[in-house]
Amino acid sequence: MIAGKPTTSADRVKTRKTRRLGLLTAACASAVALLAWAPAGAFGAECDNFSPNDLDPSIPTFHDWAIANGVTPDTLGGFNTGTTSRHTTAQVNAYMEAVAAATAGNDRVKIITRQTGTSNLGKPFKYAVVSSPDNIDNLDSGRNDGAFWRGVREGTISAEQGEAEADERPALIWLTATPHGSEPAAGEALSRLLYEFAARRDCHNVDRLNNLDTFITPVTNPDGRDASAGGTRTTAYGFDPNRDFATRNQDVNQARILEIYKYPGPIYVDAHQQSSGYFFPPNEDAVHHEVSEFSWKFIQNKIGPALQQTFNDQTSQYRNYNSYDLFAMVYGDSVPSVQLGAAGMTFEKGTSESYGKQVYDHYLALDETANVASRDKADIMADWSAQWEEAKEQGEAGFLPPNHLVSPLNPEIIDQPDTDVFGYYYLPNNHPGDTAKLMREMIETGVHVYRLDQDVSVPAAHTFGPPGSEPMVLPAGTLWIPSGQTNKHWIQAILGEDPFMPVSYHYDVVNWSWSQLRGQSGNGYLTEAMPGSPAMTEITAADFGGVTDVAKPVLAFPTDSAQGATMLIDLLRRGADVSRSDEAFEAGGVEFPTGTGLVDSSTIGSATIAEISEERQVPVTGLDDYPSARHDLVEPKIGLYTGSTAVPTNPLQPGTGNGHCATAGLTGATNYCEMLNVLAIQLDIPLTVIQPVTSTDLAAGFLVSQNYTAFVNPGQTIAAGPGATALQAFVNNGGNYVGSLAGGTTTARNAGFTTLNTQSTSGPPWNDPCPAGAPSAFDTSGVSLMGEFNPDDPVAWGFDNGGFLYRDATSNPVYDPATLGSTNVAVSYPDPLTAFGYTCNATGAGELPGRPAVADVAFGAGHATMLGFNPWYRAWNDSNWRMALNAALYPNGASIPVAPAAKKAAADGAETANEPIPADELPRIANRPVIHSHDAGKDIRITALSHGHIRGLHRMLRKSGAPAKAMRKAKFTTEGKYDVLTIRGMRILDPELRPTWQLELGQNARDSGYALTNL
Ligand SMILES: [Zn+2]
Repeated sequence: MIAGKPTTSADRVKTRKTRRLGLLTAACASAVALLAWAPAGAFGAECDNFSPNDLDPSIPTFHDWAIANGVTPDTLGGFNTGTTSRHTTAQVNAYMEAVAAATAGNDRVKIITRQTGTSNLGKPFKYAVVSSPDNIDNLDSGRNDGAFWRGVREGTISAEQGEAEADERPALIWLTATPHGSEPAAGEALSRLLYEFAARRDCHNVDRLNNLDTFITPVTNPDGRDASAGGTRTTAYGFDPNRDFATRNQDVNQARILEIYKYPGPIYVDAHQQSSGYFFPPNEDAVHHEVSEFSWKFIQNKIGPALQQTFNDQTSQYRNYNSYDLFAMVYGDSVPSVQLGAAGMTFEKGTSESYGKQVYDHYLALDETANVASRDKADIMADWSAQWEEAKEQGEAGFLPPNHLVSPLNPEIIDQPDTDVFGYYYLPNNHPGDTAKLMREMIETGVHVYRLDQDVSVPAAHTFGPPGSEPMVLPAGTLWIPSGQTNKHWIQAILGEDPFMPVSYHYDVVNWSWSQLRGQSGNGYLTEAMPGSPAMTEITAADFGGVTDVAKPVLAFPTDSAQGATMLIDLLRRGADVSRSDEAFEAGGVEFPTGTGLVDSSTIGSATIAEISEERQVPVTGLDDYPSARHDLVEPKIGLYTGSTAVPTNPLQPGTGNGHCATAGLTGATNYCEMLNVLAIQLDIPLTVIQPVTSTDLAAGFLVSQNYTAFVNPGQTIAAGPGATALQAFVNNGGNYVGSLAGGTTTARNAGFTTLNTQSTSGPPWNDPCPAGAPSAFDTSGVSLMGEFNPDDPVAWGFDNGGFLYRDATSNPVYDPATLGSTNVAVSYPDPLTAFGYTCNATGAGELPGRPAVADVAFGAGHATMLGFNPWYRAWNDSNWRMALNAALYPNGASIPVAPAAKKAAADGAETANEPIPADELPRIANRPVIHSHDAGKDIRITALSHGHIRGLHRMLRKSGAPAKAMRKAKFTTEGKYDVLTIRGMRILDPELRPTWQLELGQNARDSGYALTNL
């Protein structure tokens, strides 16, 4: 604990835990405890006739079932290496149903199965619950075990009550197969485990059935599992579902994850596959400060050692302390850890052995995990219950606990939480549609949200973004998420604006904060307690929709949310006359930001706009007249660039493919499907408005001939040629171009819209020393930064409170302002620049501060916008969607002055729209290549801290089994006092995707005592 923090109650909980399990000792002792721990008397004395071969013949084995149903292979295994021996989703589910059906009327075991929804490609999401008949009958009725544990988690049932009933009620545990479809072996492993739960009549299994309700999900991503012979990693839209556990914006996670809140418990296993070997926790890397002590110590001191013992007994190869983290709140281990208070764990089995061995090793780990939960069930559930009260007490004290490093290999913590957080506030009329979505997603996860019934003066409010806190009046109507509630860990882990990264190492993103990604500028959190007991009401929804004064001539709604910006499209496509205000204004006591939607009420039905307002959760206010100068919008038809000559197969546009985008095999397919998912699914824009445009369509002049209004390019480079020529003609004649990333900017240069280019980040000042262990290089891997928005520019309309920028990768463009020419800067990196999350060489002088992030330029009668990031990334960033929609809807007509009498005069030429550039004055179409940078973060670097190691490094690389390409690229150099091995550009950051030779090289380098600069 940090000195001076109020820890009395937490200490009380800790004392009780220590007494109970004797495993929750001081953090610094945990590594020692792990080595020393051995299971005492594996099973209770009352059950010593262990005979797992006493099997109930009424339960079908997989083999018998497969023979009877003509399924091959007819075992839960197979001799092939790789994953092609996997069974299909339909086969795995059919066996699950057969085992469940066979338990009907059984007085020892009962299995129920449930469907939580249907995948993008029409396949069912299913899980089974196996337990004793008494437990199953009391899951949702009778004793209502599900509701009971749910109540403990949500704080409606006290921790004391949970502890008191820990003996009598089963623990609910989740054993799930990975959402990665190309890692299928846990599907077969869980099928075997389900069979054993059902068929084994020995007393150990009877104990497990009495102690546990085991929730088994053998197939989490049916579309991915079935998309190709060995399975395909992603969802059908090409998303990595193991980065979406918190956001749940993908089908794989949406309905399924809501089930885990209904049935919370102490274990959630996410069983994946990697290149070789077996990995189970503890992880090497950091544990997020909001992972409860119960959670990480249960993994560290109890489950990890039990799995080690089990694997040791069978001389099975395994690894611990691999470079997985329990930090980023995106994964199937970290998210359940904070949401369920569970031991959230990633298991990884290599695909290099025969499939039968892959299945067996997963079975072994999953089976032992269930055994651990069963053995100490009453104590585990008492401790699991206590953590919720502890979390609430921490929240009431505003306390953020420290980050932890559980690995003995990781020496140094570089950052710790340094603020107090008492709760999050959301001011009235500030980003309403996106705030409503945020509240819905928090409430769905069991978080309590309140609306203030009165004005409340608070002593210290911190607005998201700039440092510091100040006194403030939160007006009545403010929404309030107090930290002092049982789900405090989850609230802080996902809403906290700074993750306080404890290490300089990362293999994915370093920020995932919904406060920034959802564009919550102007809102914030309290750094001192809210005084007194102000009147407030708990809400079940934000309820921002509705129209005030619908009969008035002008209907106004803010577009400072992605939902509000999309509402412009909703109304335009229904034929309404819609314009946007050039300026912010105040009406009826409400502040309306720049770009406010203004609808001629005579052009839309009152019921229609009321319905749209409810759907988007954006309030509409009737006004007597137009309140400000404004620009008319045209009904949009938006072309989405596919990046190749065809439309990649996807769930909405399967074409002749299987509907799974990752199998399309086309350039740009992933970018296209990601963008399509955001626009069509997340924002619910109909496919009549957003239509695919292939490179062939583009070159054939479809943008002009088929009356498109905007063309959105998610990052592809369109080279000089017919496509770029047609694009130039389109924009010149009044179209809007929206291009993201370096490719989108290069396209704009090739078409002659802009001279904007990037600058190299390969030399000074981008290569100063970084914190220990990190390469001396520019590094912005998935980080939020402050943005400086110019709300006079229509691309930044609605960002009157400022906002945030998200660089999803170091390779996002770094624009050179000297190349701007006549291009405007809509959004820039402010100077000084605050980053939320780990960066290196990003925020200093000459680095990002002051550079453009979003630039736009008028070209002929149209407009081009360049976004220096990927707005569609992981479908995460409502704030970026707003910018992209603003750019696509850019109003190219003349500004219409405020006074109705002046309207005609304006039309006569007070301000006119731009005209197309005459053909003989058009800039030349030419390739104007991007300035390349080298990302040293992708280099493998191994450093020997003295001379004389060149031969040793060479030998080590060869022994690792490195492929010829890596041997060719390997450079052995002497840098000052050090000998260094460098392999440029070959480092795979995600340890799961890292090939065996890199795993071995890293391991051998560590064993040899080399400093692992980067692997
Ligand atoms: Zn995986």
